[in-house]
Amino acid sequence: MNNAVVNVAIDGPAGAGKSTVSRAAAKAVGYIYVDTGALYRAVGVNALRKGIDTKDKPAVAASLADISVDLVFENGEQKVLLNGENVSAEIRTPPASMAASDVSAVPEVRAFLFDLQRDIAKRNNCIMDGRDIGTVVLPDAKVKIFLTASPEERATRRYKELIEKGTDVKYEDVLSELIERDYNDSHREIAPLKPAEDGVILDTTGLSLEESVNEIIRIIKENI
Ligand code: C5P
Repeated sequence: MNNAVVNVAIDGPAGAGKSTVSRAAAKAVGYIYVDTGALYRAVGVNALRKGIDTKDKPAVAASLADISVDLVFENGEQKVLLNGENVSAEIRTPPASMAASDVSAVPEVRAFLFDLQRDIAKRNNCIMDGRDIGTVVLPDAKVKIFLTASPEERATRRYKELIEKGTDVKYEDVLSELIERDYNDSHREIAPLKPAEDGVILDTTGLSLEESVNEIIRIIKENI
């Protein structure tokens, strides 16, 4: 690995604010922001489009044979391409979230997306967020942060985000879906969601967005 490149790994459960906080912190320190959940979501959307049962692991693994998934960065903004098509909006729906959680438990899917994530990190100062960045994808990252908050606070944030986008959802459904995803993500056999042993845990329950971003920036500056 290029020692001059700084990688910051931010992991944590769904709705912890990883993407919002990471994007803002990346802008402040001048790094690119890489949202790895978008990759799993793109694989999930591909399966949904093809009518594949996302819990059928062999079928999901087979679906990888004829697809390409890429990340491109324009003016610092990430776009995810599925077979060259920009699917950045389609991947944000609740069915895409559940599909992403299902397909992410398939070892072939994780292997399929591994090199892409590693290559980006090798070439760029970046803040990369996901579930297994500090533990599996970038075990040598300079800074590792596990960002979390209570399930109710995370569900409230996610609910507000979806309502603002005009998605018709109920708070109770957002909360139960989030708890189900957390359970799936932290109990799967491969690359389960857990804090890295050499990382810092940041609980943002009760913190504003600005306070969370400032904490992240402080942790980054302290560790590089
Ligand atoms: O972060 P986001 O909610 O967009 O991720 C969607 C799903 O993708 C997660 O629920 C998780 O199952 C999976 N994921 C993963 N590893 C990552 C990033 C996301 O398993 N590094």
